[in-house]
Amino acid sequence: MLTQNLGYPRIGGQRELKKACEQYWAGKIDLNELQQVARNIKENNWQTQLKAGIDLIPCNDFSFYDQTLDTSLLLGVIPPRYKPVSAIAANSEIDLYFAMARGYQKEGLDITAMEMTKWLDTNYHYLVPEFTANQEFTIFNENIFNEYASAKQLLGQKAKPVLIGPVSYLLLGKEKEQGFERVDLIKKLVPVYVQIINRLQQQGAEWIQLDEPCLALDLSKKDKEAFEFAYRSIAESVSGVKLLVATYFDALLDNTQLAVSLPVAALHIDLVRTTEQLDEVLALMPERLQLSLGVVDGRNVWKNDYEKSLGFINKAVRKLGAGRVLIAPSCSLLHSPIDLDLETSIDPEIRDWMAFAKQKLNEVSELKQIMEGNDALLQANKKAIASRRSSQKVHKQVVKDRVAAITEADGKRISAFPVRQQLHHQRFGLPSFPTTTIGSFPQTDDIRQLRAKLKKGDLTVEQYDAAIEQATIDAIRWQEQLGLDVLVHGEFERNDMVEYFGEQLDGFLFTKNGWVQSYGSRCVKPPVIYGDVSRPKDMTVRWSKFAASQTNKPMKGMLTGPVTILQWSFVRDDQSRDITTYQIALAIRDEVVALEKAGIGIIQIDEAAIREGLPLRKAKRPHYLDWAVNAFRVTASGVADQTQIHTHMCYSEFNDIIEHIAAMDADVITIETSRSQMELLQAFAHFEYPNEIGPGVYDIHSPRVPGTEEMASLLAKAADLLPARNLWVNPDCGLKTRKWPETKAALENMVAAARQARELI
Ligand code: GLN
Ligand code: ZN
Repeated sequence: MLTQNLGYPRIGGQRELKKACEQYWAGKIDLNELQQVARNIKENNWQTQLKAGIDLIPCNDFSFYDQTLDTSLLLGVIPPRYKPVSAIAANSEIDLYFAMARGYQKEGLDITAMEMTKWLDTNYHYLVPEFTANQEFTIFNENIFNEYASAKQLLGQKAKPVLIGPVSYLLLGKEKEQGFERVDLIKKLVPVYVQIINRLQQQGAEWIQLDEPCLALDLSKKDKEAFEFAYRSIAESVSGVKLLVATYFDALLDNTQLAVSLPVAALHIDLVRTTEQLDEVLALMPERLQLSLGVVDGRNVWKNDYEKSLGFINKAVRKLGAGRVLIAPSCSLLHSPIDLDLETSIDPEIRDWMAFAKQKLNEVSELKQIMEGNDALLQANKKAIASRRSSQKVHKQVVKDRVAAITEADGKRISAFPVRQQLHHQRFGLPSFPTTTIGSFPQTDDIRQLRAKLKKGDLTVEQYDAAIEQATIDAIRWQEQLGLDVLVHGEFERNDMVEYFGEQLDGFLFTKNGWVQSYGSRCVKPPVIYGDVSRPKDMTVRWSKFAASQTNKPMKGMLTGPVTILQWSFVRDDQSRDITTYQIALAIRDEVVALEKAGIGIIQIDEAAIREGLPLRKAKRPHYLDWAVNAFRVTASGVADQTQIHTHMCYSEFNDIIEHIAAMDADVITIETSRSQMELLQAFAHFEYPNEIGPGVYDIHSPRVPGTEEMASLLAKAADLLPARNLWVNPDCGLKTRKWPETKAALENMVAAARQARELI
């Protein structure tokens, strides 16, 4: 029985890669220094995996920015707009690479970056390959061969090059012009994969891993044929090397037959996300195929339950024989934080239930040792698992009971929207096209410094609070001067919209160093939800009340919704996601009620991440949407009709989920639409969306200040699509990443645009 790993985090234990890349971009270090950092990280990673006793160790899983972008460069898929960069840039290839990742504004050039999107259902973002009708493929660089050569020096036959498989590479890209389907490019692409595989084989590679996550998605007939064609052609043209096709994040389901029929040496399946697929796969396994069992969760922070994993392993061994079984993490460990050993301040009892990437490698190898008879390892693991299962730190009966007692009525406002709308008109007396913002104002360095100083002890809590109060007062004063209708307090007291709540809720913990790559040099440190979630005391009332007392205008309370908190945290794996979400929903509901009691009449509950939680397979979406929407409704429905509930979402593709968005029944929803020129409002128009809506009239992602006319014309477009009486005027999203001068100028123009719109109706 072999053990293997599919990929290891490449940011470095202390985020060395992030720091080095940013220094290189700023011109503070040269290419040699950058490459030295990369070499150290790779060697460290390989040593760690070697020490852990992993038999097949990935190489070419390192990337300076993103592995899909690496693949594009390897295959020569370079959009023509970057040609001038290679001509100018000093270290041309890596500068070309970074230009594709980040755009290029130098030496008179102004070239946009490639589009970035989420890697399947993770919070990792990749650069979307761009294809043209006459797309050519060629081996453009030597990185994969060089990396294999250095891995081999250190690891010998254990070194296993990893590459995105040809079909997923095409499917995860997009057509840049009309008149062709990218999947048809497979005929041109496969010969280049053959060359790459043959060269690696000649260099000595015994195993090569091809990631084909698209095998776990809904595939068209044509996509399936592309898989058959690609792997048949490869099998005909290569020999002396074992190919491993890796799938993850969902089950193969209707693609099982296709996957097991691919003429390769081994197939990897994710048994963490979808435990039930093992039987289906085993039933169809042909004799020649080996099976890699992804039993250790590559996307979460919990210690593996060995007993459960051994159940899978034993089952596979009985059917296939040990020689045909590999043990592995469920997916690349790229999505895990790196090293739990660095977390010295987590409660030791809870820490004993956790595992990060480095610990997960040990788990993989311990599972093999247990299969070979080491019972002590199993007993130690059982103890940890049992302690978590029964711990008072995890289980709070009152919380469980409260979730179990949620009724349909808890998810329903007292009266229907038209009644509430009437009451809101009477209560707030807002003009038509009321203006507001999404919540945060610029988090300038001095605001961030306040928090740093408070943490270090250089500021007392009183001093810190006084400074935040002053920032809030200033923001309120100028919102009044500007003539905004519904004010916000600015969120100056918040570090992050999830962390701020996690820190105040029971059942959450925070790591010191649990960084995970989100894109390029950007890393995130998600909170960990380890136990039943409850709210020991008010979280935002103090700040909202303070802000409301500074003005006669309505002041919007500002909360993060339960799905977004779930989605941006590491979650429990010992209960289903919907239960955890309902626990958070009840906690936030109590906060909503507390705000109402404190006199706050308008409360926004941000659900930026509802869309992100959508399951990869269409058939699973309705169930998810049901509970996600209901959790929002539970959060929002504890208040009187007179209270106006807002929600905000950071995107605008609603076509496929519009009925569920409507079912959330928020009195007002604000969304992002400015970049699409309101086109994405069509879904709402089509559906005859009944509640009020604030389509963003300006893009907050850039410092550009839009003119009054521009925003007024967007409003006119919106009013063509939806009843004017239901429209609000606001930016696309929060303003925390902006600077004050552009914020003030843009909002001034926005208020002027709203005034123009009012005159037209
Ligand atoms: N209220 C938050 C803000 O303004 C919303 C941000 C978001 O949804 N991403 O920053
Ligand atoms: Zn947003």
